[in-house]
Amino acid sequence: MLIIVPRATWDPAPLVAGDRYSGPLTRTLRSIVVHHSDFLEPAGPLGIKQYHLEVSGFADIGYHFVIEPDGTVYEGRSLERMGAHAGVAREATRGHRDRDPDWGAIGIVLDGYFGEDLPPPAQREALLGLIDHLRARFPRIERVIGHREVRRELVVAKELTPVGPPTVCPGDALFLWLDAERREHRFTKDLQPSSFADGSRRASGTRSAATKPSLR
Ligand SMILES: [Zn+2]
Repeated sequence: MLIIVPRATWDPAPLVAGDRYSGPLTRTLRSIVVHHSDFLEPAGPLGIKQYHLEVSGFADIGYHFVIEPDGTVYEGRSLERMGAHAGVAREATRGHRDRDPDWGAIGIVLDGYFGEDLPPPAQREALLGLIDHLRARFPRIERVIGHREVRRELVVAKELTPVGPPTVCPGDALFLWLDAERREHRFTKDLQPSSFADGSRRASGTRSAATKPSLR
């Protein structure tokens, strides 16, 4: 059973920041974006919050959920409020918040760096459990993507202009695993082949060969 540690239990001074969604969340929340924290030593939810306040200049922790290596899921920014994790589009001005890639996007971070190595099994299982929970609670979620796919799926696909450099987040190892999982569990309805990063075609080819031995 999925247990989400409430914010008040880990954060001595919870903040309230981020644009509040006006409509029902079941209509607004449409995407899940998966990140790694990029910290070689996991920083914990409080460390991530401090980094976002002091280094990133955010008004609060940017993610809605933080998953630690032992599989503990911590509540971050309230789902009632737009996160700060998916980046920026030039057209997302104050009067057009719904053009922001963060609009309607739930941000989940796995604490650690996953460029080469996968997260521990408990951390991965917790992510899948949290995704299941969120998809059941918000049935209009239509995509589960890695941060690196935001530019294509939530910016360029909407004819908006990305700001800043592309990212490799959530790291190659975590991204390839997530991609295989979402295909197997059909998390995402509108996947495009171009979502593959370099090297992932081999992994995906291996997978489809394994599931369709007659085509080998
Ligand atoms: Zn990220």
